[in-house]
Amino acid sequence: MANNKDIFKKIISHAKEYGFIFQSSEIYDGLSAVYDYGQYGVELKNNIKDYWWKSMVQYHENIVGVDAAIFMHPTVWKASGHTDAFNDPMIDNKDSKKRYRADVLVEDHIVKIEAKIQKEVTKAAKRFGEAFDEQQFLSTNKRVLDYKVKIEDIKTRLYPAMDENNLDDIKNLIEELGIVCPLSGSRNWTDVRQFDLMFSTNIGSLSEEASRIYLRPETAQGIFVNFLNIQKTGRMKIPFGIAQIGKAFRNEIVARQFIFRMREFEQMEMQFFVRPGEELKWFEYWKEQRMKWHLGMGIPENKYKFHKHEKLAHYANAAFDIEFEFPIGFKELEGIHSRTDFDLSSHQKFSGKKIQYYDPDLKDSYVPCVVETSIGLDRTFLAVFSHAFTEEKLEDGSERVVMKLPPFLAPIKAAVLPLVKKDGLPEKALEIFNSLKYDYMCYYEEKDSIGKRYRRQDAIGTPYCITVDHQTIEDNTVTIRERDTMKQDRIDIGKISGIVAERLKNMNLY
Ligand code: ATP
Repeated sequence: MANNKDIFKKIISHAKEYGFIFQSSEIYDGLSAVYDYGQYGVELKNNIKDYWWKSMVQYHENIVGVDAAIFMHPTVWKASGHTDAFNDPMIDNKDSKKRYRADVLVEDHIVKIEAKIQKEVTKAAKRFGEAFDEQQFLSTNKRVLDYKVKIEDIKTRLYPAMDENNLDDIKNLIEELGIVCPLSGSRNWTDVRQFDLMFSTNIGSLSEEASRIYLRPETAQGIFVNFLNIQKTGRMKIPFGIAQIGKAFRNEIVARQFIFRMREFEQMEMQFFVRPGEELKWFEYWKEQRMKWHLGMGIPENKYKFHKHEKLAHYANAAFDIEFEFPIGFKELEGIHSRTDFDLSSHQKFSGKKIQYYDPDLKDSYVPCVVETSIGLDRTFLAVFSHAFTEEKLEDGSERVVMKLPPFLAPIKAAVLPLVKKDGLPEKALEIFNSLKYDYMCYYEEKDSIGKRYRRQDAIGTPYCITVDHQTIEDNTVTIRERDTMKQDRIDIGKISGIVAERLKNMNLY
């Protein structure tokens, strides 16, 4: 059986071979951790965006959208804390010459100890059978308790060191724990250094410090600085939300996981403004809503899990990640954060402008609190894409790769294919294509055998192939082939649109 690493490789080459994702500037040997979306990639990505945007903006009477610029006044990043603290500690292994995030090396070490605990549990469950009480075992078994103490010791060293920027202590911790480079296996580490994650450039013709601006590292700040504009012109009443989809840029230290970690990526963020004191209630609400949204794509529940942040960011009073089981393991897909009133208060302070909301019910003014849902569009793409990737052995012994994408996300909804390139079949097929194209993204193709054309559509996840043959000319019927079952039915041309529509309706509305 192929392991996950092999599957990940296959998924990456499938994405390239079928026009979903290309390395940026490939003809110049590529630009690391930057990717371009090809002809089918852009469709899938747009459909994911559309699903998110509708679920936020269209289905909520109290959420509106915004599209803020990537460049912002440099003081925005002072107010948000990014200028002073948006960096990661990095460390290089001198033998493999690979660079790592120092905190991630330590966290991975913790995950290994947690796996050992899990191993003990599995062993004990086998030994005790029905009588096994997991909770009791976890709280009494000597070996498990030792592991737990070890984990706690590491955390109480790592988190303060991170907060206090104590890079020497992070290095000491890595050495004391005997952490080795996963590639070279050696402990030959450099010192830990801070690495600034923000990209900067200069605006206007001056190249001095004063003209330095940043490419935004998150989209959220574009929402905060427009809070008053939107609240006033939209006559929004608290609680209300502002949603945005847009590019963000981070000069990531470790960037070798395809579109999981990119230097230029897209975020879909919604900031929900609430009365102070009510933020934790709304936090719970959005946690639940967001999980429903994910499950609405038809991916099984066991592929997702919540992960509670133990080390909270400077602005947060609660934070959870939704993790997804990527081929590289369970990793963060979305963050849900209760950001308190930190951002608005900070912008109020730095701009000298009053950023408050007059609550007509309370007859009082306050700086609202914010609950944020922040999801990576590219990571969602990777989640959907990797889950859809299926290699199948067919009854006749042949194999096919089929992308079992949820139909409402599929780049092409229906391919219209004349069986042969003569006898008036292409003309008839084009007629059908033209009648469907205003409602659905369709595809027309006449080259190659019909079997090859079906396989190509399977490989990009097209739910339906419609084939025009000689009988079509006689009785106005076509065959319609369903992607997953490969079942073919003969139907009236007039029924095509309804069948495709029925399948797309399966999208759950969140
Ligand atoms: P990580 O811990 O993986 O670096 P983060 O906690 O810094 O992520 P946030 O700042 O919370 O991420 O950003 C919100 C979302 O944006 C993440 O959940 C993720 O889906 C996405 N995201 C963040 N950084 C990247 C990146 N470099 N490439 C692709 N998506 C990203």
